[in-house]
Amino acid sequence: MKTPGAKKWDGKEKTADEFNEIARNIFAPVYPVIARQAIECCGFDRGFCIDAGCGPGHLALALASISGFTIDALDMSQDMLACAKKNIQNAGMSERIHPVHGDVHALSYDDCSVDLVISRGSVFFWEAPDRAFAEIYRVLKPGGRTFIGGGFGTPELKAAITAKMNDPSFGEKVRGNLGHEKQRELRICMKDARIRDYEIRRDASGFWIVMRK
Ligand code: SAM
Repeated sequence: MKTPGAKKWDGKEKTADEFNEIARNIFAPVYPVIARQAIECCGFDRGFCIDAGCGPGHLALALASISGFTIDALDMSQDMLACAKKNIQNAGMSERIHPVHGDVHALSYDDCSVDLVISRGSVFFWEAPDRAFAEIYRVLKPGGRTFIGGGFGTPELKAAITAKMNDPSFGEKVRGNLGHEKQRELRICMKDARIRDYEIRRDASGFWIVMRK
């Protein structure tokens, strides 16, 4: 199923460098909060993790810095991966985080080989979330978890970042992406992917699809 309003990420709206600047200067405080929430939610802090649609890699970096995970930072945009590679090198994390070119709809991992899949702000661009969810579920190990969705960590951070962005179209996009209708669409995609053991965790700052295998 295509989710209505889903827009393929083509890098035209913002280049990878522009997105990286915003992530470094405005979104920065959300990544450590979300990384901590992902660990608390999955209940383990080591193993093999994929950050799906990693962009410039800030969530992967935040997770690596508070856990023992080895992480593949996966993205379909080579420009984003080039930014991610620089950020990972600058943080001295090249041993733990590996930039990987890939599409979440066709992952090049074996069945049951991944402990955790995290993903922030990417699901809204996936062309066929049902296929992507089925693919992610396939590669999860038994006992594996996901933390896939969008958000800002806390309502306070969401308010502060929305104010800093100072762009009405940003607020509108966030309302569409994080609203109930989007979650309803994604539940249909989960049903189409035949994944039953999951929940959507949400608060006023975002939502996260937590699959359990
Ligand atoms: N997760 C990062 C963050 O929160 O800073 C980046 C979010 S950015 C809004 C969305 C990212 O998803 C882009 O880097 C885009 O290239 C990536 N993306 C979109 N569709 C994808 C797909 N099918 N497979 C892999 N990456 C994808």
